[in-house]
Amino acid sequence: MHERYFDNAATTPVDPRVVEAMLPWFSEFPGNASSLHQYGAKAMDAVEKARAQVARLIGAEDPSQITFTSGATEANNWVLHALKEKIGISPWEHSSIRETAERLDIPTIGEFQMLWPERFYYWDGELLAGPPRRRHQYAQMEINNETGTIFERISSLQGPSLVDATQAIGKLTFQVDEARYVTGSAHKFYGPKGVGFLYQQMPHQLEPFLKGGGQEQGQRAGTLNVPAIVGLGAAASIAEDQIPARYAHALKLNLLFQNELAVKDSRMNGGDKRSPFILSISFAGIEGETLLIELDRAGFCCSAGAACSSQNTEPSPVLRAFGVPDEYIRGTIRVSFSHHNTEESTYQLACEIRRIVTKLRELR
Ligand code: PMP
Repeated sequence: MHERYFDNAATTPVDPRVVEAMLPWFSEFPGNASSLHQYGAKAMDAVEKARAQVARLIGAEDPSQITFTSGATEANNWVLHALKEKIGISPWEHSSIRETAERLDIPTIGEFQMLWPERFYYWDGELLAGPPRRRHQYAQMEINNETGTIFERISSLQGPSLVDATQAIGKLTFQVDEARYVTGSAHKFYGPKGVGFLYQQMPHQLEPFLKGGGQEQGQRAGTLNVPAIVGLGAAASIAEDQIPARYAHALKLNLLFQNELAVKDSRMNGGDKRSPFILSISFAGIEGETLLIELDRAGFCCSAGAACSSQNTEPSPVLRAFGVPDEYIRGTIRVSFSHHNTEESTYQLACEIRRIVTKLRELR
């Protein structure tokens, strides 16, 4: 099942063991985790178990560093709203960071500026003598969702303070290390949709984003989604065992795909250091959308870059930031792997793309 689904960076099928772990928490154990009676206590125990499972997966010292959210989007919004005076962002962040930053007037910081801040005397339009002080924190994702680029954690600024690790967690070995804030979503690693978390190095440091009922030690209001949180914990625990096998499988398929594709006037985007789970490929002279529709007809699901921006017909600003030439940007698709894909389906996908691209170019 799902062997022709190559859009695993958009979302992954929920692992049946995760579904099984979640089921009792809908009707059999329906308690509100904030209630003081036995129903509530049982639900809260399950939530705390999940918190420990997530903490272990990402190498957090203490489960209290984890706060559950509705996903990485909310967690990214939270951090940016709380740090808006102090933080800058990299140019290739996910839209939940880029668009929030734009609304909050948070500046985008160039790569070189992040590497050598002391060489730059202008920061956010302000003349500075020496390294920037005001905005000394920045957001840099671990793995880019459109290209799979793996970013180095830059040490000269004591490491990025916000690391969006949504495309890394559960797929590659990921540790929080020196990061102050880390965000992730369960559905990218075979957990349920609509649940994720924020890790804070200093627990409970940020001003809450959602205020109300005082849940999560007053950090994130709203009744806890116990089944989803249990699912996130189960997915984290399964991932701990499965990461080496998942990684090896994705790498094998990724190399096979690249070997088979061999289409002229095409390029792989995102530099040399990339996650094997994501491939961004551009074909000059064709529309990526048309290629995707034709692939869908043939039974293959891929995407036009970020699933969340597929409604947007503007060329991807992230691909622009990566220096992909304009004539290639429009002909870009993203192929993203999981353990459900097989060598056979990967081989067929490469052949199908070759056939369709040739046909579309002939029709020009
Ligand atoms: N960050 C990255 C890198 C992502 O890939 C995504 C999902 N595409 C998100 C954040 C947002 O995740 P969610 O939609 O689950 O909130």
